[in-house]
Amino acid sequence: TTDAPPAEDISADDIFIAVKTTKKFHRSRLDLLLDTWISRNMKQTYIFTDGEDEELKKKIGSHAINTNCSAAHSRQALSCKMAVEYDKFIESGKKWFCHVDDDNYVNGKTLVKLLSNYPHIQDMYIGKPSLDRPIEATERLGDNKMSPVNFWFATGGAGFCISRGLALKMSPWASGGHFMNTAEKIRLPDDCTIGYIIESVLGVPLTRSSLFHSHLENLQQVSKSEVHKQITLSYGMFENKRNIINMKGAFSVEEDPSRFKSVHCLLYPDTPWCPPQVAY
Ligand code: UDP
Ligand code: MN
Repeated sequence: TTDAPPAEDISADDIFIAVKTTKKFHRSRLDLLLDTWISRNMKQTYIFTDGEDEELKKKIGSHAINTNCSAAHSRQALSCKMAVEYDKFIESGKKWFCHVDDDNYVNGKTLVKLLSNYPHIQDMYIGKPSLDRPIEATERLGDNKMSPVNFWFATGGAGFCISRGLALKMSPWASGGHFMNTAEKIRLPDDCTIGYIIESVLGVPLTRSSLFHSHLENLQQVSKSEVHKQITLSYGMFENKRNIINMKGAFSVEEDPSRFKSVHCLLYPDTPWCPPQVAY
């Protein structure tokens, strides 16, 4: 097969990658990302957190953004962070907004390749739903009126991307304080609110990509030989079991429980802390 030519020649610089985190995960989760994929994507990665951290500032400077949102795991706190991510993206002038969690590995090269397939001025919302059907929600219309709505949304925990063209259209529901108000209208988490604005309000369908992965799916099913082709990976618990990708790599599961260090050495074998390439 021949690959279609890219719709638009973009570079890593055209992408804004927002990583959502919280202060208690700076050492346990974020440092791993900074040592792996973020180290190769410093210029396009912005970290959205809820507390000051000198160590983090030393590593990434002004790309560490204290949202001043609450550090709680509440719907409001998470929507508050998403609202700041959105506003900072608009301010950045970049062509693509991508959101990930702090338990995601991002392959910057495959991300550029995917987004090159689409013009950034068109309406594009790309990611992977975690449900096999649209979510059923209730829209609060004011005057105590309610109305059922169904829409697809991309799981925040797998990462998703939005073109600038679409992001600009979202502004009346997403910019400034509007995102929080919109989230309250449907009383669902931040990633659902994004889906609601795009699919339900603006009528733009989600474009599905199988290359985004959250720990809500069985990560053992990511093919060993195709790890390098994925755009995002994750790790975590699923049904009380450790859920990680299945790969032989530079490090054992004990040394590298998330598998992110092994993935990183597969993608960037010239990394100083990766063992010589002969063993794997
Ligand atoms: N998170 C947050 N505040 C919290 C707890 C979590 O911002 O109080 C972020 C966390 O850093 C991650 C995302 O929310 O980026 C999802 O959290 P987690 O992976 O712990 O939960 P999940 O929803 O995946 O089970
Ligand atoms: Mn998670």
